Amino acid sequence: MDALHEFDVIRPKTVAEMLAARKAHPASRLIGGGTDILVNIRRGIEKPPVLIETNEVSELRTIAADANEIVVGASVKLAELAQHAAVKARYPAIAEAADSIAGPTHRNMGTVGGNICLDTRCIFYNQSEWWRGANAHCLKTVGQMCHVAPKSKGVCFATFSGDLAPAFLLYGGEIDLAGPDGARTVALRDFYIGYSKQDGSTGDGRNYMAIKPGEIVLRVRARNVPGLVSAYDKIRIRKSIEYPVAGVAAAVKRAGATLADLRVAFTGTNPRAVLLDGTAALCGKPFSDATLAALDDLCRDQLMSMKTTFTPGTYRRRVATVMAKRLVRRLWDTAA
Ligand SMILES: Cc1cc2nc3c(=O)[nH]c(=O)nc-3n(C[C@H](O)[C@H](O)[C@H](O)COP(=O)(O)OP(=O)(O)OC[C@H]3O[C@@H](n4cnc5c(N)ncnc54)[C@H](O)[C@@H]3O)c2cc1C
Ligand code: SF4
Repeated sequence: MDALHEFDVIRPKTVAEMLAARKAHPASRLIGGGTDILVNIRRGIEKPPVLIETNEVSELRTIAADANEIVVGASVKLAELAQHAAVKARYPAIAEAADSIAGPTHRNMGTVGGNICLDTRCIFYNQSEWWRGANAHCLKTVGQMCHVAPKSKGVCFATFSGDLAPAFLLYGGEIDLAGPDGARTVALRDFYIGYSKQDGSTGDGRNYMAIKPGEIVLRVRARNVPGLVSAYDKIRIRKSIEYPVAGVAAAVKRAGATLADLRVAFTGTNPRAVLLDGTAALCGKPFSDATLAALDDLCRDQLMSMKTTFTPGTYRRRVATVMAKRLVRRLWDTAA
């Protein structure tokens, strides 16, 4: 294994200092816990000359979670989010998702901002430089083709695997960004653009976030819905420490025998975090096996797992669908 290349580290204390450092070093990269980007640097995937650390920016290290809204700073550690009493009580899917990420050491280092901006993954990409070179590289780095889908016409299908995004999507998550053109807030479902359409009209596994050059994620926010019960579940190869084979966040609201609200979101399946479209049409009716059959159809239509991991894409789609149906059934029973 090669040694890490030389780079400088800047440790700003304020958002203004962060933005100034970004402006002064356009080729810099942000680093929170480094549990993703350092692995990529080690593998020669990227070689930033400067890393700007987010951890000492105290204004980005706060969590507020009341009955109406949750606001989490980008520099909050995953372990802090997972253990936060109000998050566990009011936004259980978010706390459970945070608690399921990697292992305890990663959760103590890894940040919310790093998880939201996690790089997409693929068995042809998350390899050493010599392995990728020996296999002619691929579109996500310097190669000319996609090995997962050789006829992809320039589209990459690398999978988004961050666990937090689907949980925030349940609650209408939004991201506060700051950059050279000022501050803005983007709906989380518009932030992930990895639709991988062959007409190139959207992003893909390489270009998967609607973030502009020099922009920084400041906070993730979401709104509560009274009566909504939520949870997070994932399947992984090694239960103690592993990316999701597939992860599902679900939220259910019940009014007697009627399904009043249903939201389901996924990670580990597509080049974006997926908030399932069409669940509103299943609401306002009694919950039944037909609800779960219709949910199955929605998953089949919208989950686009490819052979980007050790498990076949068809298996991941199936397992994600089964997990979603089980989770929704469990939440329906709990909400009673
Ligand atoms: C063995 C192993 C298992 C893992 N398992 C999981 C898992 O189960 N689920 C999961 O979701 N992840 C997993 N991860 C990935 C990683 O640990 C987590 O996603 C973690 O939350 C990343 O946060 P970080 O602060 O360490 O990110 P970093 O590595 O510091 O950064 C990741 C990316 O985000 C960018 N970034 C960081 N902060 C900001 C910001 N404020 N604004 C804009 N961009 C920013 C960085 O430039 C970089 O591109 C695993 C990693 C390893 C090594
Ligand atoms: S999906 Fe294709 S282009 Fe994207 S990382 Fe994998 S092999 Fe490379």
